[in-house]
Amino acid sequence: MRLTCPICKTVVEDAPEDLPTRPFCSKRCKLADLDNWLSDAYRISSPLRPTDTDDDELKLS
Ligand SMILES: [Zn+2]
Repeated sequence: MRLTCPICKTVVEDAPEDLPTRPFCSKRCKLADLDNWLSDAYRISSPLRPTDTDDDELKLS
């Protein structure tokens, strides 16, 4: 499957479905997102999670 990293916008062709860093291209971006998420969690009580994976599922069907 093809995925676009929401952090650095890198397009990863042929990303395996069980990629541990999904929906990010790398562990670094996953950690960057976690950092963002934690920062938001301190600011607002109910942080929103990105729903980029929903788009991928739509393309498959
Ligand atoms: Zn990335």
